[in-house]
Amino acid sequence: MALRSLLHRLVMIVCLGSAAMAGVGCATDAAVIDQANQMHSGLEPAVITDPHLAGYIQAVGERIIATAREMNRQNYGPSAHREEDSQWMYSKEMQFHFVNSKTLNAFTTGGEHMYIYTALFEQCKTEDELAAVMAHEYGHVYGRHIHKSMNRQYLVLGSAAAMGLVGYAAGGDKHGDEYASAFASAAVLVGNFIGMGYTRKDEAQADQMGFDFYVRAGWDPAHFADFFQGLIDKGMDTTPEILSDHPPLRDRVAAARERANQLPPAARNWRKPNVATPQQFAELKRWAIEVGQHMPDDKSLEKAQELLQALPRSCLTPVVQQDQQQAQQKIIDDLQRVEEQQRQADQAARRQSRSGH
Ligand SMILES: [Zn+2]
Repeated sequence: MALRSLLHRLVMIVCLGSAAMAGVGCATDAAVIDQANQMHSGLEPAVITDPHLAGYIQAVGERIIATAREMNRQNYGPSAHREEDSQWMYSKEMQFHFVNSKTLNAFTTGGEHMYIYTALFEQCKTEDELAAVMAHEYGHVYGRHIHKSMNRQYLVLGSAAAMGLVGYAAGGDKHGDEYASAFASAAVLVGNFIGMGYTRKDEAQADQMGFDFYVRAGWDPAHFADFFQGLIDKGMDTTPEILSDHPPLRDRVAAARERANQLPPAARNWRKPNVATPQQFAELKRWAIEVGQHMPDDKSLEKAQELLQALPRSCLTPVVQQDQQQAQQKIIDDLQRVEEQQRQADQAARRQSRSGH
């Protein structure tokens, strides 16, 4: 694809996105889903498609969304949940992915995709830990939290077209230009996500809703906070509260324990066996490492991993990890560098047209 047409396509994508946003207090579902799908095209080379792993994470996710569907019927959740028709949130269109990445993170783009990084999967000692993280992430979808942040940060997309140049250089031997375009739009959106953040209120709400989905879906209430406790045990809860926009992990653990203590006696009947037995879970973790090591090692995987690394830590650690910070800085630098190149190219073109050529 010629550079000009690549840029043109990128500008079109961004303009369509803007049109969908114009005049609305908050982003619409359609705009958020569209953005999430664009982002997915750039992240896709890192998605693990192995049927055992993909089938497993989808099964865990579908147990959460089936529960959410039921709870929606009972009018559960904040008012933002009822702003638009929510049926898409419980449909098979909701896709849960393992992505091959060494960064400790889980992320939802607010639409139909949720990403669990393999490094995070490896940290999970049990399915309960994985399900708790996923239920929390799903809480951000259910509460339409991305919709609000998208609105706050949308102007960053102004420099979007410039990223086409970065994208152009991104193709691999196999994917080439086809992926370059996907990477370019995804990189812009990742740049947008870097400045975006959930508020503490969103996090607290996602913790509450995540707990409710998790428990009603049949996992063990006593283990909801195990993942966070594991991070505390690793010394990751050391930032003074005032320096972090995330609630301290110890407070979140305490809140989850309190919620578990306050469950009604009927909650005993909600329990179901986990999707995988502990032995199967351990095997899936081993298999994920194996599969991750044998993914086709081309440029597009590397680029998708860069994007994944640059996504903000969604909810897990109280501070941005160093590798994430570096990856974010790289995206920002790329954006600025290419913007500058484009500005110079525009100036040169203007000079040329003035001199009559
Ligand atoms: Zn969160």
